[in-house]
Amino acid sequence: MNVKPVPTLDERINDIRMRTAEIVNEDILPNERRLWPSREGRELPERDRSEAHELRAQVQERVRKAGLWAPHLPTEYGGMGLDFLAHAYMNEVLAYAMGAAKLFGVVAPNSGNQKILVKYGTDEQKRKWLLPLVDGTMESGFSMTEPENAGSDPRSLTTTATRDGDHWVINGHKWFTSNGIDADFFIVMCRVVDGTGELGRSGQMAQIIVPTSVKGVNVVRGIGIWGRSSSDHCEVVYDDVRVPIENILGNVGDGHQAAQDRLGAGRVYHCMNSVGQMWRAFDLMVERATQREVHGGLLKDKQFIQGFIADSYQDIQAARLMTIHTAEKVDRNDVSARTDISAIKVFVPAAYERVVDRAIQVWGAAGITNDLPLAAMYQGARTLRLADGPDEVHRILIAKHVLHRYESGEGWDFGN
Ligand SMILES: Cc1cc2nc3c(=O)[nH]c(=O)nc-3n(C[C@H](O)[C@H](O)[C@H](O)COP(=O)(O)OP(=O)(O)OC[C@H]3O[C@@H](n4cnc5c(N)ncnc54)[C@H](O)[C@@H]3O)c2cc1C
Repeated sequence: MNVKPVPTLDERINDIRMRTAEIVNEDILPNERRLWPSREGRELPERDRSEAHELRAQVQERVRKAGLWAPHLPTEYGGMGLDFLAHAYMNEVLAYAMGAAKLFGVVAPNSGNQKILVKYGTDEQKRKWLLPLVDGTMESGFSMTEPENAGSDPRSLTTTATRDGDHWVINGHKWFTSNGIDADFFIVMCRVVDGTGELGRSGQMAQIIVPTSVKGVNVVRGIGIWGRSSSDHCEVVYDDVRVPIENILGNVGDGHQAAQDRLGAGRVYHCMNSVGQMWRAFDLMVERATQREVHGGLLKDKQFIQGFIADSYQDIQAARLMTIHTAEKVDRNDVSARTDISAIKVFVPAAYERVVDRAIQVWGAAGITNDLPLAAMYQGARTLRLADGPDEVHRILIAKHVLHRYESGEGWDFGN
């Protein structure tokens, strides 16, 4: 990956980017296949598995020593304590290598749960759930989406947490609870039924910590996706699950805000990840074009392929600059960043999909093999169009904000 200091960035952010790139280039990219050996339909030999485990631990150790561990967490919880912009700029570099985020201590959905626990957790909840998540002795999931109700409209959720003395009794049906196979606990989004009103108004949403070992938590299956027979995105039935009242995160009524906190500005990070992956796909495409001979000439000399390169260059530049512009607005607490967050949420995954699609085309059959990261990127890009709030919901929001300005007698100021 060719990363040089950016003249407009301060020294500190450039230093983080350069040191991240060093690890990506020296430790991760040359070892990608050994770090993440593919099963390809067969049981992975023990030798490959333990080699991968050891290699990952070595890279993680170097990341820790370089002070680049857990960019999303404050220093008191073992993270880098990065500000928003620095984190965004770091992400485009580390996302260049598939799976690198995990080697830098950022693993969804654990990372989102860690941030929720940092913000809403009591000291006791942090001790019991956050610290083990950070040191890797526990795994977690976030359980919000339900098969019977629209995930894009969280107000429609029907899972209930009914107060019974000093316990919540949870009943509901969720799916796409990621990391559900390995999780030790889930953070479950519930509608509260509590006549006492002690913790907030009955009927409102709350997020409640539910250990997966509690009776009544049934992980029904890892849902098959993209033609594979299974995944770690799980269907979960909560059947009269009893957890102590103090497992609530914040108060009754905080559930929606906590879900927003989790996604909200975090979409900027996801888009910077997409930019890093587009960058990788672009490099792969251009390098191949300079080497592959077809019909008596190199691909790079064919105008169709030059068109792919030019269009991809524009897609990446537009996606990156839009995302940085949004990150700067979020960083200075500009409320109009809401519109830009929605705009990048729609634009960037679509641009990512186009860039990867062209890279696959240039590589021919090799483009869809597991020998290259392109096929996985393609599925990832497509999935992003419906995760993090489907595109349509964000397009509605953009139009709503714009129309509101015009209806109140103002035009849109594209300079701000
Ligand atoms: C890989 C992956 C991982 C996930 N991980 C998690 C997880 O860990 N935890 C969790 O709780 N959930 C998770 N999800 C679920 C995800 O959050 C939901 O899929 C998403 O919120 C959309 O909800 P839905 O699938 O119910 O689609 P629906 O809400 O049913 O929407 C379906 C489609 O309707 C259209 N639509 C929606 N609203 C409008 C509108 N107002 N106007 C016009 N069209 C509209 C959109 O095209 C949308 O794609 C994951 C999903 C995926 C794919």
